[in-house]
Amino acid sequence: MALAKVRAGRGEQLRRGWLVVASASLLAALALGAEISPLFVAAGWVLILLSLLLSPSLPIIEPPEPDTPPAPLPPPDPLGDVCRAYAALDMPVMVLGADVNVQFQNDAAQRAFGEIATDSHLSVRLRAPGILDMVRETIATGQPNQIEYSERHPSERVFLLRIAPIMAEAEGQAEAPYYALSFRDISELRRIDRMRSDFVANASHELRTPLASLRGFIETLQGPAKGDPGAHERFLGIMLDQANRMSRLVDDLLSLSRLELKAHIAPSQRVDLVPLIGHVRDSLLPLAQELGIEIRMHLPEGRVEVTGDRDELVQVIENLIENACKYGQEGKFVDVYLRNEPSQPVELSVVDRGPGIPAEHVPRLTERFYRVSVADSRSKKGTGLGLAIVKHILTRHRARLIITSELGKGTDFTVRF
Ligand code: ADP
Repeated sequence: MALAKVRAGRGEQLRRGWLVVASASLLAALALGAEISPLFVAAGWVLILLSLLLSPSLPIIEPPEPDTPPAPLPPPDPLGDVCRAYAALDMPVMVLGADVNVQFQNDAAQRAFGEIATDSHLSVRLRAPGILDMVRETIATGQPNQIEYSERHPSERVFLLRIAPIMAEAEGQAEAPYYALSFRDISELRRIDRMRSDFVANASHELRTPLASLRGFIETLQGPAKGDPGAHERFLGIMLDQANRMSRLVDDLLSLSRLELKAHIAPSQRVDLVPLIGHVRDSLLPLAQELGIEIRMHLPEGRVEVTGDRDELVQVIENLIENACKYGQEGKFVDVYLRNEPSQPVELSVVDRGPGIPAEHVPRLTERFYRVSVADSRSKKGTGLGLAIVKHILTRHRARLIITSELGKGTDFTVRF
């Protein structure tokens, strides 16, 4: 379409007219040698100035010039357009011909599956028979199809593969036989699904054991031990332990779920760690005495402030010192260090001299329900959730947990703020 041009407005034309008239008359008068009075020259210049200042400039639209032909459009390239659009996507996409040869792959596909030469068969890169069957079916029927496909190398990935014909129909041409093969990465979804179902299975298992034990004792008290006061006392004590175990588990599960809800909200209070550590030590003294452990404090002078949530930090320190007392009992001492060096991050370390943790377990200790020995943890009233809670709290506090352990020497849990 030819564009209409905007040219000088009527005001502009008027102004130019006044200028020409005034200048011409002045020049004519001078050329004729006329004696011009200064009043006349001044009037002329006033006219020129007025014409410049007062004439409004109104744009007028000129009709399009009839003789400029429109630029010719490039010939239609429907597949090229489709490929250019796919190139901009961040999900892997390949374009296949009816011979199952790859005609195009975008950068995301290249990153996910490596380079593949144009016009080579899809099976060069994806050999799974399920994929080829699905592609052939779509080519035969023209109907879209999808399957789930997982790869183990170089890392475990799960994709939802979908194939659909491309409607690349140019005007006056037959429909081009091309097919778009797209890959939706659902590895993360699958991982979360698996974690959720593992978690539910673990939590139910942990609750089922004390529940089964409670039911067993109730049945015994109702039946064989009905009139036996000695058995009553013994069994009721065990039942209380089991009920306490269940409530510890439920408390820990609730703590975890509350922490998950606020995982993305960083705390804003300033908390002095020195009195907090002292308070936790006092509350754990009875346990330490029962286990024959001495908790030794190595705290700097003055305040050591960090940004955090007081109650959550108490929980972290409590879980770490309690674990050190329980699992490092043989070492007799648990040392708590607080370091606040200039231009260094604040560090809190809880060090025991227990048997240590075999290296293969260390990276998994903060997983929910992960325990080096389930029996050992249960006998020490553990739920397997303590370090998972610690990790959640520290993540919210933008702090790190560093675990170092040496067999036969002990374990060091350091929190770096
Ligand atoms: P639990 O409730 O079983 O104590 P945690 O999540 O607190 O659960 O700890 C997970 C596991 O890590 C424990 O069962 C134990 O096997 C191991 N662990 C934790 N702290 C120590 C430690 N200081 N020394 C040796 N092992 C430890």
